[in-house]
Amino acid sequence: MICNYCEWRCDLGEGRPGVCQMYIQRGDRIEERHPHHYTTYAAVHIESVPFFHAYPGSRSLQIGSRGCNFDCHYCSNAYVAKSLPDEVYTFHLSPERIVDVARKTGCHNIVFAVNEPIVSFQSLMELADKAKAAGLPLGCMTNGYMTEEAADALAESCAFVNVSLKGFSQEFYARCTGIPDFEPVLRNIGKLTAKTHVEVTTPIIQDVNDQDIMPIAEFLASVNANIPWHVFRLLPEYKMKDEAYPSIELINDKLEEARRLLPYIYFSNFVGSTWVSTYCPSCGEKVIERLNLGGCGGKMIDFRLDGANRCLNCQSQIPIQGRYVKWNSGDEGHELCGA
Ligand SMILES: [Zn+2]
Repeated sequence: MICNYCEWRCDLGEGRPGVCQMYIQRGDRIEERHPHHYTTYAAVHIESVPFFHAYPGSRSLQIGSRGCNFDCHYCSNAYVAKSLPDEVYTFHLSPERIVDVARKTGCHNIVFAVNEPIVSFQSLMELADKAKAAGLPLGCMTNGYMTEEAADALAESCAFVNVSLKGFSQEFYARCTGIPDFEPVLRNIGKLTAKTHVEVTTPIIQDVNDQDIMPIAEFLASVNANIPWHVFRLLPEYKMKDEAYPSIELINDKLEEARRLLPYIYFSNFVGSTWVSTYCPSCGEKVIERLNLGGCGGKMIDFRLDGANRCLNCQSQIPIQGRYVKWNSGDEGHELCGA
């Protein structure tokens, strides 16, 4: 049977897993090998995932399973993304249990990150139903290499999606991620943006994909100029540990030009970045202030929009999914440490 979750469309014979190793054919059904098994669950700031324009200030329950349909040579989560099902410790967490943990830890939403959600899609869709019934928005981080059917289902279930657009040439995608065609990723960014809140993340590796900064900015502006774009200075790991660290100045110079096309560009993963705050495109006022302490995304320290997400200075609308959510400390710790 053909697996129609991602664009590899693997032919799963009886007992033979596909590229991601996560599905198998049983009788006339394609099933997950280990449904509802997770490697990660932790309460985090939504800005650290990163989402900068969705429920600012909120606490998210971040979950992840294992496995991936890409083989990015620089992967920083390879220990879960590229491990085989029996190689990492996992927790079995039913959808009800995840919703319960989210509530007890004061989380406003749930976000599937760390590895690719399409490899655990059946579990994710079951969780989506339970989260919806409980009034908890669901989000995810994805590489966007899903089929159109899966993209429709994802857009239906997720209130916020961050798509990783890793480069802008087939040569780069083939060499560094292993996929034969990156067009579906572009198609899905368009598809998802039309139906749900989308942010895009691009890891930049110096001399490997830094020349793609302008083409990506042009593409995103053609889809929707309000898409928040997170440019991430990648410190190569996994199969690229020997590459040089990217120059902050060099990337910044290229981003200066891109900022004329996209008002919401963020640049992070180094201490002291001044490009993690949101500025009103109309009047230049700093409307959401964030700090970057060196990792991914940032931490929100000030929010200066009104209840309808308008600039307090000039009343321009800033595109934000949902509203500012006051950080809720919840029933701190117990659920997360005890598992
Ligand atoms: Zn303004």
